[in-house]
Order: sequence, then C-alpha cells, then structure tokens
Amino acid sequence: MAMTGLSELRSRHPEWAPWLSVVDVALCEIRNPAWQEGMPSVSQSARSATRASSTSRLSCCDVPPNPTHLQPFLDRLVRAALAARTPSLGALQHARYDARASMSIFMAALQGDDERLDALASQIGTEPAPLRAVASLLPLPWLQAFRREQAGRISQAWSAGYCPCCGSWPALAKICGIERIRYLGCGRCGHCWEAEGLKCPYCGMRDHEQLGMLLPEGRAEQSAIEVCKACEGYVKALRTLGPGEPEDALIADLFSVELDLAATARGYHRPSGVGCRMGWES
Ligand SMILES: [Zn+2]
Ligand SMILES: [Zn+2]
Repeated sequence: MAMTGLSELRSRHPEWAPWLSVVDVALCEIRNPAWQEGMPSVSQSARSATRASSTSRLSCCDVPPNPTHLQPFLDRLVRAALAARTPSLGALQHARYDARASMSIFMAALQGDDERLDALASQIGTEPAPLRAVASLLPLPWLQAFRREQAGRISQAWSAGYCPCCGSWPALAKICGIERIRYLGCGRCGHCWEAEGLKCPYCGMRDHEQLGMLLPEGRAEQSAIEVCKACEGYVKALRTLGPGEPEDALIADLFSVELDLAATARGYHRPSGVGCRMGWES
C-alpha cells in the first residue's frame, strides 16, 4: 500500500522524486523487526493512571528510548539524500557523526526540538535545513515499533489533540463512512484515534464561531481544511473508507501537500514540536 502510494506520488510530482527516495528508505525500515528489540517499559504509575489521562504512552516510559540500530539507519538516510543530488541535501556530505551524535539527533527529532537539531547540525559539520529534513524520518521506525509494542494498551478514551501513543500532533483527520466518524492519524508512530468533531486538536477550542472550514476547489468531496481562528492552526481532513493502515497517515500527509499550501497561504499553520513533551533531556 505504502509503496504503491509513493510510486503514484512520484508520477504525480516528478519534482519530488529526490525527497521521496529518502522517504522510501524510512518506509522500508519501518518493516524491519529489529527495531522491536529493547523497547522501554511504561511505568507502573502510568499503567494504573486513569485511562483518559492526557499523558502519552511514550512520555510514561521509565527510561529514554535507546535504539541500537540508529547510526546505520541514519547512514542509509544520508546516503539516499546525497544520491538525490539536490543542492540543499548535498550539504550532508560534510556531516560526520558517531553513534552518540546519532542518538542526540534521534532524541532531538523525537522531542520535536528544532533548536537542538540546528545546534547539532553545526556540531556535526552540516547545515540546519538538510539535517532537519533527514532527522524528521529518523525516529519513525522506532516509533512505529513502539506503537506495535503498545497496541491494546493505548487509551481508547482520549480527549487530547495529540497522539495518545507518542505525543505527536496529528498529521491529518480521517472522516470515515456515512457515519462520518472522525479519526486523527499520527504521521510518526502511525496510531489512529477516534476524536470528536468541532474541536481544535491544538488549543481545544469548541466555539463553532472560531472554527471554520476551507474547501479546496475541485477536491471538496474528498478533503477539506479545518481551521481554528483562535490558535490559527489547521488540520487536513480527508474522507476515507476506514481508519486505514498505520503508515497511511504518513503517505496521505504527503499526498495532500496542496492542502498545506492552501492553508499556509491563508495564514494558518501546524504547530511545531510535539504536543506532549517527554521528560528526558534531548
Ligand atoms: Zn503517534
Ligand atoms: Zn485552536
């Protein structure tokens, strides 16, 4: 499904091919069972906390994640980025990092800490923009493995706007079936959770006068942009048959870039960072 999605995207937007070849490396790696090793345990207090708490599973881990396959994966992402031969990604050719630096990049990306990533870019001898781009993919295989590990233990009664599994902001909303059940999909760990409509996932606004909808020309049947005037945030809402497979949110997010462009052109944005910070230093 994911690979079909990427090839279709490539033929629709040939100009994205260089970056999609890097995304491809991450999507293949998501299926590697080796990432399942050494998952951190979730603390006893978190397990006994109310199911409707607003604390993500990831932020309840006893210890920070310590994946053992990071540096070879970062190597593969950097090699794919360099093979893409674009001027911006080309700055990665000067990057020099060891296992420890790979871990620092992973932790900063996991925490959504762009300032830390920029500092790391200068420490390892590259530019901030290409490192941010590649680092955004670095936590995905570990986060997807964490989501598989936590399956069945993730709160069903969840009201916060961020992912109950990993704390990331949703990549998009999926409006499913004739009942129009609304799910929010995480583009990082792949978890999908049912959410109430008419509520901004970022600031919790419920006043319908503050909430609006932008309907893109020609696509109004399948998609819309839900906007919040209070925090100026937006969520892409796509009509789908069902919540779909875990990596679908990541692909659907790429597929709907036109909606991001339409929303940002009107002054709306997606929040940076993550919705639920973790307790560890990055
Ligand atoms: Zn998530
Ligand atoms: Zn809002």
